[in-house]
Amino acid sequence: MMKNKLFQQFPLLQTMANQDTVLWENTNWAKKAQTTLFSITEVIEAEETLQRFSSYLKEAFPELRASNGFIESALQTIPQMQEALEKTFDMKITGQMIVKCDHALPISGSIKARGGIFEVLRHAERLAIAHGKLTKADDYAVLATEEMRQFFAQYTIAVGSTGNLGLSIGIMGKKLGFDVVVHMSSDAKEWKKALLREKGATVIEYEADYSVAVEQGRKEAEQNPLCHFIDDENSKDLFAGYAVAAKRLQAQLQQVAIMVDANHPLFVYLPCGVGGGPGGVAYGLREYLGEHVHIFFAEPVASPCMTIGLLTGLHDEISVEDIGLDNRTEADGLAVGRASKFVGKVMETYISGCYTVTDEELLTSLKLAMEAEMLFLEPSAHAGMLGAIRLQQYGQHYLQRHDLIDKMANATHLVWATGGSMVPQEMREAYLQKANS
Ligand SMILES: *Cc1c(COP(=O)(O)O)cnc(C)c1O
Repeated sequence: MMKNKLFQQFPLLQTMANQDTVLWENTNWAKKAQTTLFSITEVIEAEETLQRFSSYLKEAFPELRASNGFIESALQTIPQMQEALEKTFDMKITGQMIVKCDHALPISGSIKARGGIFEVLRHAERLAIAHGKLTKADDYAVLATEEMRQFFAQYTIAVGSTGNLGLSIGIMGKKLGFDVVVHMSSDAKEWKKALLREKGATVIEYEADYSVAVEQGRKEAEQNPLCHFIDDENSKDLFAGYAVAAKRLQAQLQQVAIMVDANHPLFVYLPCGVGGGPGGVAYGLREYLGEHVHIFFAEPVASPCMTIGLLTGLHDEISVEDIGLDNRTEADGLAVGRASKFVGKVMETYISGCYTVTDEELLTSLKLAMEAEMLFLEPSAHAGMLGAIRLQQYGQHYLQRHDLIDKMANATHLVWATGGSMVPQEMREAYLQKANS
């Protein structure tokens, strides 16, 4: 098959096939990133939509009262974790590490509380407006009434997921009153399925991986005209919901006096599964903060679908199985064998590169963060924790090319912590035990 020729053309593929860690540098990166596939107006509309929903969200989720109906997470410094990483990997991390705490996002405890919840809300808004039940000038708190719940109960929302997307769509969809069907891949954890069933969602389990769960979900949804399929591989609404994070992060950085300019580079490390979450955030960050944000996607060595899609330019026409990998990883949220073509194409000029991490490194990092900071993140989220290490190891060429070597003392390394606060205690202990063995 095409494998041998591809390996000749792209030697890094061989390294990845061996499950050795890599950092791939994106040579299509551009100062002024651009795409014709998506537009900033969609992000602005998403921001406005979430604003309209704030009164409803505050009503429906008491935990959102303090934030006035906004779903947002804090920034946190992690000096002890930085030191622990330096010691463990015997490397100096120049600059300051900080964490964007999406693991603690309200409602569903992962980055999916951005895109996933936004697409459910937007769908609800479109239905309610189309049926004369709502206008954009109304107070959206009316959506919390029994009458509206009964209205939404006529409709179904379906999704395919490795776990966290299903969780946020199930929780939000059921809260509004929708019928929700979640197609879960074999990687999905039992507690996520149990929680969803408890909320009233239908969970369909597959012995196969994420791509199959999505495909089945899409097929079933096509048979039902009253069903909306949330398409993790192609949805622009999801992408826009994730991108809303950027402007808010810009304000947070200003609040803590972190500058982003030629002398103060910002590195952002985003764990990547199919690509929508990290892609949306990356798009927003480059649009709002510009060329001095250097974005790297992080993937497990067994599931580097976005890395191989971008580096070969084949996007969804290549899977990790094609290079002999098995897509089995402790990072369940990242266990995706084939990347989103939409996201890959949009990202071409936006991201600086991708890197990979081993499961062992993920668990080591999980343990270090607990010991050093009492910070629990799920294994997937720890892919971001290793960014500064990977950059130090393999990123010197990138730093030279971008004239960054002598600016690293002023650098910020932002780890996007994508999930974890809902993981049950016994699972946390099991991860720690695994890290120790
Ligand atoms: C979904 C998820 C990601 C990656 O998002 P994609 O849109 O699949 O690329 C990263 N971390 C966690 C914890 C997730 O649940």
